[in-house]
Order: sequence, then C-alpha cells, then structure tokens
Amino acid sequence: MYKIMLTVLICLLAAGGAFGAITEDVQTTDVVVVGGGGAGLAAAIEASELGAEVLVLEKLPFLGGSTLLSGGGLSGAGHQFQKEAGITDDSPELLLEDLLREGQFKNNLSLAKTFADRAGEAIDWMADLGCDFVLLPHEAYPEHSVQRSVSSIPGRGDGSALIQALQAAAEERDVDIRLNHLVTELLTNTSGTVIGVQAETAGGTQTVLAERVVLATGGFVGNEDMLMNYAPEIVDMDPAVVGFTELQGEGIILGQEAGAALENMEYIKVYPTGGRTDDGDDVYVAYQQVTPLGAILVNREGQRFVQETPGTFVEVWEALQEQTDQRMFLIFDDYTMQQWLETDGPLVMGWSQERTLQDFEEQTLFRKSEDIEELGEKLHVDSSALVETVNEAGLDEGPYYGVEMLPNLIFTLGGLRINDDAQALDAEGQAIAGLYAAGEIAGAGHGAEYMSGNAISYAIVFGRIAGENAARDALQDR
Ligand SMILES: Cc1cc2nc3c(=O)[nH]c(=O)nc-3n(C[C@H](O)[C@H](O)[C@H](O)COP(=O)(O)OP(=O)(O)OC[C@H]3O[C@@H](n4cnc5c(N)ncnc54)[C@H](O)[C@@H]3O)c2cc1C
Repeated sequence: MYKIMLTVLICLLAAGGAFGAITEDVQTTDVVVVGGGGAGLAAAIEASELGAEVLVLEKLPFLGGSTLLSGGGLSGAGHQFQKEAGITDDSPELLLEDLLREGQFKNNLSLAKTFADRAGEAIDWMADLGCDFVLLPHEAYPEHSVQRSVSSIPGRGDGSALIQALQAAAEERDVDIRLNHLVTELLTNTSGTVIGVQAETAGGTQTVLAERVVLATGGFVGNEDMLMNYAPEIVDMDPAVVGFTELQGEGIILGQEAGAALENMEYIKVYPTGGRTDDGDDVYVAYQQVTPLGAILVNREGQRFVQETPGTFVEVWEALQEQTDQRMFLIFDDYTMQQWLETDGPLVMGWSQERTLQDFEEQTLFRKSEDIEELGEKLHVDSSALVETVNEAGLDEGPYYGVEMLPNLIFTLGGLRINDDAQALDAEGQAIAGLYAAGEIAGAGHGAEYMSGNAISYAIVFGRIAGENAARDALQDR
C-alpha cells in the first residue's frame, strides 16, 4: 500500500503537479493525527492501543490547544464521581434531553446521542489515565438537570491536568509527537482518498503518508474572516475574543478541500463576559464572582435588564443581545468589593487580586468614583437613571466601581460534518475515504448553544472514536 502511495506521490512530483513544492523527507505511518489538543491526543492514545503506528503533528511549540486554556470542566452521565456521591438519577437519556433542549434542537441528533452515551465513560477513561477530578456542585453548571459535571484538579479553571495526563499516556504508548508542524495540505490520490498530509516545519516541508488521517485541529475562533463569513451578526457586535486565537480553522478548510461538508458553522459560543482595556486587550470579566455579593448589571440606559443571580450565562447573553449596542455594565459598591476580597475567585480571569486592585486605581478597565453620577458619566451610561437604580439596589457604600462589558467569543460549535464513527462526510453523506475528524472541528452535536463541560467531553468522546476507527481501518489495509 505504501509503495503504491509513494509511487503516486513520486509521479505527481515528476509531473510537477499540485505537489511540486515537495522536496524532501517523506515519512509513512498508520495514522497521522493533526492537532495535539484533547481530541487529537485521545485519538492518538486509542489508535496506538490498537497497535497502530501513530504520529501527532501539532503546529505550536506546545501541546494542548483550547483544552489547555479551558476551565477543565467536563460533563457526562453515569461516571464514577457521580456514583461515589450517590447520584443515581442520571442517565444518557437525561443528558441527551438536556443537550437537545440547551442546543435549541439544532444538534446533529446522531452525534448528540453518541456523545450522551459515551460522555460518562470518557470521564472515567480520563480518570484511568491518571487525571484527578472533583465533582462540581450543581450550581456551578445549573443548565444540567442533575449534578453531573467534574473539574480537573489540581487547578480548577485550568486544563493543564487534562493535557498532562493525555500527553503522558500518549508517550507511554510510543506515540510520535512532533511540535512546530503546521499541516497545510491533505494529500489525496486520484480517487479522492486521503493518503496523508504535508506540514511546514522550521526545517522545511514534511510529507507524511498515512493509511488514515484524523483532523483534530479545533475550531475557528481566531479566524476573523471565517467568523465574518459564518456569523457576521456576532462580529458586528465588536465582541471581545478571549478564546484561543491560535485556532484559525485550518483543519476545517483542509477538510472542505478534500470534499467534506460543513454543519452548524453559524453557532459560536459567546459568553456575556467580555471586557476591553483602554490598551485594547480583551479580557474575561467573571461578573458571577460579585453578583451574588450584591453587584448588579445595567444597560446603557442605567436600568437592570436581567436577573443577575442565579442566572445562567445563556440567560444573560440572551438578554444582552436585546440591549443597546449589546453592552452592559457591572456596577458594585465598596461593600461588595471588600466582600469579594475575602474570596479567592478572580474577577478578571488571569488577573491576581493585586492586579485588579491596581486597575481600580489606574482605571484602564474598571472605572471608579465616589459619586454614582460621575461613575455613570465615565461609563457613558445614563447617569441619573443609574443613581436611581443603584439606590434601589441598596448599594450605598462608596466608592463605586463599574466596568463596561461586551460579548465574549470563546469557541465555535460547528465544523466538518462527521458520522458516529467520526468519518468526515461529503454533502451527500458519503464518507471521505481515509479521513476522520473529532473535537471542536466537528462540533455539530452541541447544537446552537453549549452546555457547560460538554465541549471537552465531546473532544474526548469523538477523539477516542476517531482513533479507534482510524486504527482499525488502517491495520486492515496495512
Ligand atoms: C477559555 C476557555 C475555557 C473553556 N472552558 C471549557 C470548560 O471548562 N469545559 C468545556 O467543556 N469546554 C471548555 N472550553 C472549550 C473546550 O476547551 C474546547 O472546545 C475543546 O477543548 C476543544 O478540544 P479540541 O481537541 O477539539 O481542540 P484544541 O484543544 O483546541 O486542540 C486543537 C489543536 O490543534 C492544533 N492545530 C490547529 N491547526 C493546526 C494545523 N494546521 N496543524 C497542526 N496543528 C494544528 C492547535 O494548535 C491545537 O493545539 C473552553 C474554551 C476556552 C477557550
């Protein structure tokens, strides 16, 4: 088989055709996985478990992608952490029901079912690989109808434990991981079967001929053109982008070039948590740290427009979309501020308390005033209405603080169309020979919205499926 593929490639080279730029290093393997985040590493581990030779190509100098940057929360039904806590009233059926409702019934039903069936098992699998988890309180992710979410530890709000466990497991199984390899092309033979990839490295071009290719390159939150193309109404809101902007959607474009269809590209995960410093840096403002302590959300007219607590992000986001220029303002007084200082939750993700306190003085993100009316003027909010609203809310200990908040793009929910076996599909629903996709790159199981913790579980579930199937097929054809 490899001989045939090599001949195909050499012929193409000789003809000076599409692959005319390839000059060197041609390597062969059973399965090549493109992208070293959660889905890619899960695929690599499963493929190698089945005895396949596996190569992972990651464009960045480190593994992890969005999975590394994530909050480390995973959701699933029937896993060991639920059982240990005596939670027995959950099931894949209930998870599916929640997923379809929260996804506004825009989910690819078959992927949603597969996800719901296997998400609990994915959490157990990660635990078996050595990743430690703690069961989250139900209030942490209230859109789930039962308590079923876990957070990786150490480091809640941090996906590093997930990636460490996956990387160690991949290395133990002799997966060949190459960093700084940007995959730029899928190689196909004359019948359209995907037979490998081409990657750019510091040393030149690397060609990998493989029995099967798994695309696990994440979404396209960092690609302005794609966002503009698929979700112009979101881009028009001038949102903050706190997602992993290295995710440029290359895998989606490569899949399309190989004939794959797209699904749910218009659905983007937007949180109502954006902030922007005067220097233009986008940040995640965790308003939910202070709303239970008395802080309020108002619109540009100085009015409260949503029940701040308990309120899910989706409820606040839906209400925010109806407000003038899709902006809202978090307002709190010194009493709330002092209470927040007693907690250990960051008000701005990635900022220490000291850094936040410093900003209250420098006012590059937050605004501060002894006088509510002046605070309103600084924030360009209707000042007299703000005075009334703040008084009604019982905030009466100056100084007062406020911050303008905007929509915040975190990740994307659509991508390449796949089937339950993670095979990439064309517009007629036919599998594209040789090509699999998993994770955020093929996220249509989520539907129009995302339930907290489902995106990482989804990456693990479909990464495992892609790895298993790619390896099984590759070994058959060897
Ligand atoms: C701030 C933040 C917090 C989040 N918190 C949560 C959470 O708590 N729970 C949850 O469920 N979800 C969360 N998510 C979403 C979740 O992290 C992702 O959807 C999921 O981890 C995606 O996994 P993946 O493996 O598909 O992609 P990634 O983990 O993003 O991996 C893709 C990898 O592919 C590489 N790559 C891309 N293009 C190429 C190329 N051409 N060649 C080679 N390599 C390439 C990238 O560099 C990257 O390493 C969060 C996301 C963000 C940004």
